[in-house]
Amino acid sequence: MRWFKTLIAAACAAFALPLAAQSAAPAAIQAEQREPITILISLDGFRPDYLARGLTPNLEQLAAGGVKAAMIPSFPSLTFPNHHTIATGLRPDRHGIIGNTMTDPSHSPDFWVGGTDAWWWNEALPIWVAAERAGIPTATEIWPGTTVATNGIFPTDWHQFGFTIGMRQRTDSIIDWARRPAANRPRFMMLYIEELDHAGHEFGPDSPEVNETLAALDLQIGRMRDELASMGQPANLVVVSDHGMAARSEDRVIALYKEIDGLGVAVEQGAYSSINPLEGKDAALAEVLLKPHDHMQCWRKSELPARFEYGKNARVPEFFCLGETGWAVRGKAPKPGDTPWNGGTHGWDNQDPLMRAVFIANGPAFKSGVSLPAFDNVDVEPLLRELIGLPSHDAEIDGSASVFRDALAR
Ligand code: AMP
Ligand code: ZN
Ligand code: ZN
Repeated sequence: MRWFKTLIAAACAAFALPLAAQSAAPAAIQAEQREPITILISLDGFRPDYLARGLTPNLEQLAAGGVKAAMIPSFPSLTFPNHHTIATGLRPDRHGIIGNTMTDPSHSPDFWVGGTDAWWWNEALPIWVAAERAGIPTATEIWPGTTVATNGIFPTDWHQFGFTIGMRQRTDSIIDWARRPAANRPRFMMLYIEELDHAGHEFGPDSPEVNETLAALDLQIGRMRDELASMGQPANLVVVSDHGMAARSEDRVIALYKEIDGLGVAVEQGAYSSINPLEGKDAALAEVLLKPHDHMQCWRKSELPARFEYGKNARVPEFFCLGETGWAVRGKAPKPGDTPWNGGTHGWDNQDPLMRAVFIANGPAFKSGVSLPAFDNVDVEPLLRELIGLPSHDAEIDGSASVFRDALAR
C-alpha cells in the first residue's frame, strides 16, 4: 500500500500549493521549441510543367513561398541512377548505380531494383550514411538504396519497399517520425513516392490518370505540411523528382534485338538499350551498331558524347544505343504476354526538356518567391549538407551548393 500513500501525499501536496504556483503550472508544460528538421521528398517522374496544370495547389503554394526550378537529371534519365545522384552529388559513372539493371563479370547476382546485395551500392557515400556517421539520426521511407546496408550502414529508421505501401502510408511514416520526442526524432528524413511514375508509364504524361495522381500526391504533401505545422515542427522541405516523362508508342519501337541476334546481349532496354558483345563478336557487333540508324544512335561506351558524363564506369556495357525522344529501343526479343510499349517512359537524353525533373524548396532556410534557372541534380546533395549541418565536400563531388546562394535565407 506504500504506493497508494505516496499518491495521496502527492495529490495533497498539489492542492496545498499556493495559488500563484498553481497558475504557473501550465507554463511549465508549454510547447517544446522544436529545432528545424530537413525532409527530402522524391515524387518519381514529376515533370516540372505538371505544376502548371492547376492540380497541385499545395505544391504551388510551397513553391511560391520558397524556391522553385526545373532540374536537369543525370544521364541516363532513369530512377535508380538519379536517386543516387541526388543522394551523393555524383554522376552515375562515379557513384556506380549506372542503370536500373546492371551486370558485372566479376560479381553475382546481377543488380536489379529490388535486390538486397549491398555490394553494388558501395562505390559512393550517400548522404544518409554520412549523416549517420556524423551522429545525425536519419529516417528513410523507401528511398532507393536505403533498404540495403549501403557501406554497411542502415539509416536509424527505414522501411522495406512494397508496391502496396501507397503514398498515404509513406507520408504517414514521415509524420509519425516527426511526432516523436526530441531525443529520438530524426533530423533528416527521405521520402520516396512512385505512383506518378507508374501512371506516366501506363497511361502517358498527358493522361487523366497522371492528372488524378498529381492531385492525390498534392493532397499528401498538403497534409504533411499541415501536420508538421500543427505539431509546431519547422521543416525545410526539399521536393524533387528523378526525371520527367515522354509519350511512347508501339508504332515507334526499334526492333534492335533482330540486328544483334547471335552477336550481343542487351542488359537494358527501353528509351535506350545497352549491349555487351558475345565472345569474339565485338567487331561484328560494332559493324551492325555503329552505322547510322533512323531515330537511334549507338556509340561505344568510350565514345559517348562528353556531355553525358557517362561510360567510364566498368559496369556500363560496351555499346549504348539511345533512341530519339519518343522512340524506344527493344534490345531483347519480346515474350508472349509482355506489356505493349505504349503510355510513356523516360531514360532519353537528359538535356531534353521532357526529361526534366522538378525542384521545390520551402522552409526557414529558404527565401520566399525565388525562381532559379535550371540546374543539375548533382547540386542537391551539397544543399542538403548545408541544411542538415554536414561539412561541404564540393571538391570531391560533381555538384556545388553555389546555385542556391541567392535562395538561402541566411
Ligand atoms: P523506372 O521508373 O522505369 O526507372 O523504374 C524504377 C521503378 O522501380 C519505380 O517505378 C519503382 O516502382 C520501382 N522501385 C523503386 N524502388 C524499388 C525497390 N526497392 N524494389 C523494387 N522496385 C522498386
Ligand atoms: Zn523514376
Ligand atoms: Zn519510371
